[in-house]
Amino acid sequence: MFSQQLPRILEEIESHGEAQLLSPPGIEELLHKATEGEDLSRKEIILLVHSLSRPENAEIVKATARDCPRPGDRQILLLPPLYFSSICENTCAYCDFSLGGGTRLSLSGFQREVEALLSMGYRSIELVSSQDPELYAHSEPFELADQRFRLDGAARYFEILKNALVSNGGGMITSNIPPVDTDSFKKLHTAGLDCYLVWLETFDPAQYRRLHSVSGPKGNQAYRLDSFERARDAGIEHVAGGFLKGLAPWHQEEVVLYLFDRYLKQRFGRGFSIIGTPRVKGRFVRSGAIRQHTMGDEEYELNIALDRLLFDGIPWLQTRESFEMNRHLINTFGGGVILTLTSSTAPGGYAVPVEASAQFPVFKQDLKDTSRALESDGFEVRFDWNASDLEACHRTSG
Ligand code: SF4
Repeated sequence: MFSQQLPRILEEIESHGEAQLLSPPGIEELLHKATEGEDLSRKEIILLVHSLSRPENAEIVKATARDCPRPGDRQILLLPPLYFSSICENTCAYCDFSLGGGTRLSLSGFQREVEALLSMGYRSIELVSSQDPELYAHSEPFELADQRFRLDGAARYFEILKNALVSNGGGMITSNIPPVDTDSFKKLHTAGLDCYLVWLETFDPAQYRRLHSVSGPKGNQAYRLDSFERARDAGIEHVAGGFLKGLAPWHQEEVVLYLFDRYLKQRFGRGFSIIGTPRVKGRFVRSGAIRQHTMGDEEYELNIALDRLLFDGIPWLQTRESFEMNRHLINTFGGGVILTLTSSTAPGGYAVPVEASAQFPVFKQDLKDTSRALESDGFEVRFDWNASDLEACHRTSG
């Protein structure tokens, strides 16, 4: 399991001295290798990413990303989140759902939300929930080290969405839900889950412990890391990963994400199908626990450029960023991305105005105006995509 490899990887990153920074030709050589379908070795990826502290090297990454189209480069695949619960047994320091007072959509309320999204034209939907103890019931005896759940509650939401998609010509379900055991993943797969997504927050174990209560299920970092392998073992074809930018030094996080991707590729023949790019937003940005890791817009842009070059999976530009920022990134580096334009980050909000508290602030954007703006930039904005379209945007590498 990847969690067993993490300590050694972190040691290697730690032992890398600032003295060994690459010169521009060295950066160009490694970027060429990465984009021509060759895997970078552990030493090479550490060296490449650490060398970006030199401004001239960072410029090479951005210029290369501008010149290097990804598959489906004129397409933008829209993916709206649909939250069905914000009741959570975890207490993550950076999340407003940890304050309590969450809500859960009734099945009929959920059905109305599904219909509202379908009527907007969406056929690919991200189902999101917190770790609601009624939907992800603990199988007793419950151990944090070996978590097992009874998922009948959560699975009903997937079944309702799957049935609605099938009746409307098909589509795709991505989840952003807590990690579960292999049998539970099998149940979700049967219920319609196509792509399992989990943000890894930070790979740094000390920072992970600082930000997550060890008494809740999320306190077990290894269980979260290894959930992709359990999902793939359960037959779920696609997995999506990313770290939350701004919790720890992003250069280090990027190296680990790359090595994780290659590890999955070796084990299953494909790494992450989707690479997430969330950045911490909201009042927690000012917390002393993370303030020194704040990621400014320039570094964010550099990180997006690097993601486009390093990963085969499709990048996902997030609604935490302004539409102007996402439009700038798309016009600078190209499409072949997933984008969220319609976004309610609380249960409800599409069929009727939302009453529950949101998970984090999002930029309000008008769906018609924003999609027209992207079309006027020369991109095809897709509401009705599925797993085949996701495959088509996956870069083929050796
Ligand atoms: S980040 Fe997720 S697990 Fe943590 S409190 Fe928020 S909803 Fe719960």
